[in-house]
Amino acid sequence: MSITKKIVQVIDYHLIPIFGKLCLSKNKYCNVIYYHDIVTGEGFSYMRTEKDVFIQQMNYLADNGYETLIFDDLDDALKLSFGKNKIIIAFDDGWRSNYTEIFDFMKSKNLKYNVFLTIGEIENNPEYLTWDMVREMHDSGLVGFGTHTFTHPSMADLSLINCQREVTEADDKFKKEIGYIPLDFCYPFGYYSEDSNLHLEKESSYKRIYTSQKMYSYEQNGKIIFGRNGISNDDSINIFRKKVKGNMNFLKVYEDHVLNPLVALFHKIRKKE
Ligand SMILES: [Zn+2]
Repeated sequence: MSITKKIVQVIDYHLIPIFGKLCLSKNKYCNVIYYHDIVTGEGFSYMRTEKDVFIQQMNYLADNGYETLIFDDLDDALKLSFGKNKIIIAFDDGWRSNYTEIFDFMKSKNLKYNVFLTIGEIENNPEYLTWDMVREMHDSGLVGFGTHTFTHPSMADLSLINCQREVTEADDKFKKEIGYIPLDFCYPFGYYSEDSNLHLEKESSYKRIYTSQKMYSYEQNGKIIFGRNGISNDDSINIFRKKVKGNMNFLKVYEDHVLNPLVALFHKIRKKE
């Protein structure tokens, strides 16, 4: 491992959680972790988590008395608020493994989870869930659902009109299949722009919007903007624990106020040379 990578790791996984622990009161809303696909083969970063790794992490939550929440629970202000042993587990995209690999296991542990669906892939792509699977999971009361657009574009690159189209098509199809318009939305790739934010925060019917940034969640225009901690296949149980506790949410404060200004200064000096 290069020295730079090592320094970044020490800052991100050791120093940030220390500051995060000191600033725990900055967490106002329930902490969120997220995954994508769960696999029996080889895992990869944030996209594919090995089933054994996932089960070890879920056992940690169950053994430590964590309360897991689905989106429906978040209408209750008390549940929505930050709590020491509370967590929202989310899965992005709607991979089929969210049903085939983990549904029975999560049921046996009574652990609730949520899935953000890329609506256009559901039923149409064999790697993704079918609507029958979504209905069964939904009706169990164990799994919550939100949308993740219709075609999974980067919302940062879309015009306002196309943002609206992505959202409306996803909402309409979900309503046709499941019976209501979801209140939770997650940005594909975590990317967004002023236009997409404007539409989602002011005009959409979503109550809660989820980014992929390790940050303190906040309220804006009557909606909750959530920070989230992605779980990587390489995370040790110790790093997992720090992410779950909300200690890593200090990262964006550090990036905004220390790292990015330093990088900008460095570039300014280089330019002058
Ligand atoms: Zn995605």
